[in-house]
Amino acid sequence: MPQPRSVAFIGLGIMGLPMSINLVKAGFQVTGYDYNTQAVQKLAEQGGKAAGSTAEAVAGADAVITMVPDSPDVEAVLLGESGVFAHAAPGSLIIDMSTIRPDVSRALAAEGAAHGFRVLDAPVSGGEVGAIEAALSIMVGGDEADFESARPLFDVLGTTPVLVGPAGAGQTVKAANQLIVAGNIQLVAEALVFLEAHGVDTEAGLKVLNGGLAGSTVMARKGEAMRGRRFQPGFRIALHDKDMKIVTAAAREAGVAIPLGALVAQFVGALKAQGHGGLDHSALLMVVEQLSAQES
Ligand code: NAD
Repeated sequence: MPQPRSVAFIGLGIMGLPMSINLVKAGFQVTGYDYNTQAVQKLAEQGGKAAGSTAEAVAGADAVITMVPDSPDVEAVLLGESGVFAHAAPGSLIIDMSTIRPDVSRALAAEGAAHGFRVLDAPVSGGEVGAIEAALSIMVGGDEADFESARPLFDVLGTTPVLVGPAGAGQTVKAANQLIVAGNIQLVAEALVFLEAHGVDTEAGLKVLNGGLAGSTVMARKGEAMRGRRFQPGFRIALHDKDMKIVTAAAREAGVAIPLGALVAQFVGALKAQGHGGLDHSALLMVVEQLSAQES
């Protein structure tokens, strides 16, 4: 299979915009579309092409990447009347890098194959910083030959593209990722509030904790902002709420108990219900403070 040179990029948000810009910088012809025309403009300023619809963006593209919030958004982009399956060239690679339900990914891969497309689910981990620095972890579900065709794109966007299984498997691994990240943030938040209540210097405390077994990427990347109660996203609570619903539903479907994950899912849901869906997921610290009646 020839390697893709022209890429349509649908969804230019916190993740999609820097990812698409990295593809431009690597020499790909990138045509972008998003509801948000300012985001499309920003891509155009960096050398990409602006499109006014998904149909326009995918016309003539070798590969299509989608990076939109949720399962219904991906379904709308792929299945809609002016969507990808109706307008992309047959045989195109369709790579959904959004985090969505594994069963939806499987259904879309089957539908895409029926239209003659090669569909991969390729959700990512690494956050906004990973997107900007082209250091994403990419968990891919689909056929090996399609994965190899997409590899030149993955190599630009991230450092760790791994084929983890057939269609939907990338999303299942991503669900596990979100389970671990939420639990890790919750425990870092509890540790911080605990240390503060004891009057410990938390800068020094986090530094030494991060050098031992308790250390984590969450602690390294988010610890300082959590100490300073700076919760601008990053990764929005509303998106992590979506992901905790995915992982709790998928665990139930498999008959697997995830009691700690289910508890953290409640905390994430509570923050969203309180109107904090736009804050970074490290705002889980606010729940710990509320439960402990501690002032920040
Ligand atoms: P975002 O809300 O910043 O961006 C999504 C973009 O998609 C928005 O600009 C929106 O206008 C656009 N969009 C939605 N529906 C569209 C449609 N039908 N046509 C065109 N544009 C459309 O979200 P984000 O943080 O970039 O996340 C995108 C996906 O990546 C989500 O599934 C999220 O769970 C996942 N993700 C995010 C992060 C992170 O740290 N932000 C990390 C890993 C994975």
